Amino acid sequence: SWLDGHSAVVTGAGSGLGRAIVERFVDEGARVVAFDKSQQKLEELKDKLGDAVEIVAGDVRSSSDNERACALAVTSFGKLDTFVGNAGLWDFNRSLPDTPVEQLESGFDELFGVNVKGYLLGVKAALSALRESRGSVVLTLSNAAFFPAGGGPLYVASKHAGVGLVKQLAYELAPDVRVNAVAPGGMDTDLRGPAALGLSDTAIGEAIPINDLMAQGSALRFAPQPADYVGAYLLLAAKSQSATVTGSVFDISSFGILPRYAG
Ligand code: NAD
Repeated sequence: SWLDGHSAVVTGAGSGLGRAIVERFVDEGARVVAFDKSQQKLEELKDKLGDAVEIVAGDVRSSSDNERACALAVTSFGKLDTFVGNAGLWDFNRSLPDTPVEQLESGFDELFGVNVKGYLLGVKAALSALRESRGSVVLTLSNAAFFPAGGGPLYVASKHAGVGLVKQLAYELAPDVRVNAVAPGGMDTDLRGPAALGLSDTAIGEAIPINDLMAQGSALRFAPQPADYVGAYLLLAAKSQSATVTGSVFDISSFGILPRYAG
C-alpha cells in the first residue's frame, strides 16, 4: 500500500473530510494522530479505528496544542511523514454589506485564526519532524481558493491566503519538505462558522441544500461525499507517487458550485 509504515497528523479529523482522510490513510497502512477540538468526535473515531489512531483534543489556533499533536506522532509512531492541515470554518456566504462592522472585526479574527493561523502554527510545530523524515505538508483549501461565491469575503480570502502559504512555504522548506494543497468542492459535512458571526450552531447541510447544489451546479453534476475527495491527499502524502510535487494546489472541486447556482 502507498502509506505502509507512514505517520501522519490530521487536523479537523473528527468529522467530514478530515475523518475521511484518517480512515483512508489507515486503510492504506498509515498510523495517524487525529487532532480536533471535539473530544467526543475523536473518541468515536478511536473506537472505530483502534491502535492505528492516537487522538489529541485541542485548538488549531494554539501553538502548544499543535506541538502536542506533532510530538505524539513522533513518540507513538517514531516519526512524522505528513502533516495535513484541514480544520476550517466557513462563513455561510455572509457578504460584506450584510455583516455589521463589529462582526466583521471579530469574525475575521476567528475565521482567519482557524483557516490561516491554524495552518501556519501546524506547519511550524511539524517542521523539525518533517525535515527529519523529508516528509510533506498537505493543506485543505477549497474552490473558494480560486473562485468567488464559495463563501463570503472572509472565507474566500482565507482560502486564497492558503494558496499563498503553499507557494511561500514550498519555497522556504525546499528541498527538505514538500508543501501542497488540495482544493475540494462542496460536500455535506459538519462544517460550521465563527461564533462571532453567530454561525457556530448550524452545519453547512442544514443551512443550504449542498448536495442538490453540487448535483445541479458543479461542472461534473454530482454531489461528492468526503471520501470522494480523499484520493488527492493520498497521492500527495505518498512520496512514491508525488516526489516531484511541491508548491501545487490540486483543484479537485469541479468548480465547486458555479456562481450562477450559488444563490
Ligand atoms: P467539518 O466541520 O465536518 O470538519 C472540520 C473539523 O474541524 C470539525 O470536526 C471541527 O470540530 C474541527 N475544528 C473546527 N475548528 C477547530 C479548531 N479551532 N481547532 C481544532 N479543530 C477544529 O467540516 P469539513 O467540511 O470536513 O471541513 C474540512 C475542510 O474542508 C475545511 O478546511 C473546509 O474549509 C474545507 N472545505 C469544505 C467544503 C464543504 O462544502 N464542506 C468545501 C470546500 C472546502
